[in-house]
Amino acid sequence: MSVAKKMREKFPTIQHEYDVWHLAKSITKKLTELAKKHKELADWIPAIRNHLWFAANTCKGDEKLLITKWASMINHVQGIHSWKEGKQNYSCEHDTMNEEVQNDTKWVESRAAVAALKQATQNTRLVNQLKHCKNFVHTSSLESFHNVCLIYAPKRMAFSYHGMVLRTILAAMDTNNNVGREIVGTGMRYSKGQKAYVLLNKYEDKSDKWRKNLVNRIVQYVANPSLIDEDEAEIMQLLFPLDVPDNIAQVEKPPKETLEAKRMERLKAAEKQQSDHN
Ligand SMILES: [Zn+2]
Repeated sequence: MSVAKKMREKFPTIQHEYDVWHLAKSITKKLTELAKKHKELADWIPAIRNHLWFAANTCKGDEKLLITKWASMINHVQGIHSWKEGKQNYSCEHDTMNEEVQNDTKWVESRAAVAALKQATQNTRLVNQLKHCKNFVHTSSLESFHNVCLIYAPKRMAFSYHGMVLRTILAAMDTNNNVGREIVGTGMRYSKGQKAYVLLNKYEDKSDKWRKNLVNRIVQYVANPSLIDEDEAEIMQLLFPLDVPDNIAQVEKPPKETLEAKRMERLKAAEKQQSDHN
């Protein structure tokens, strides 16, 4: 069962939101594929991706408005900035374009390209996905927490259950003590996904005041254990509520000699085969 279906059926009271950038990523992928056939679409991909972000950011939680704004992109890429649908008049939200810009922009002209773009961006499946973006929520802070986790607990190293819990707590403290840092500038980085250089925000340096406070308290407690007034058993239960087995083995550990004897047998068999062969 898909996550979306499960959310709909089992948790009907929860508003299921997507991160708009994840949807943007999948649309970019689709359009990049499409642009191989319809070359004139290629230059429009970054603008279309930004438009998705803009539409989600400005729809004020109104899914109909979001869908209308998103659909307006089809007209804009053809150089049409005001149009009629039924009795309703619509127009792009950008400032009026001067004639020079209007004449110099490479608008999408081929009808086949427009039809393909429409198919890729206005199909029911995508429009339904779009509805989950109306509140413009992001998973970026969760993702940055995961990045901090990798600093404290690199994936390539194995840690014990206790070590993993404590390292994750450190990562959470590090993240929580550094949210909302000021932007101090920008930097350029090559994006593999977009195959282009992109501008990224630079934030003020992280503070390690929390780390110094932690170390000071540990030193204090070690020097004077009577200062600790919490119940140790209660803390242990809170931090490590699971009984974790020593390893994931599903069979009992044999004596080492058994494995050594088996290996010897194999080696002897191989040697015999070799000498028979000669
Ligand atoms: Zn326009």
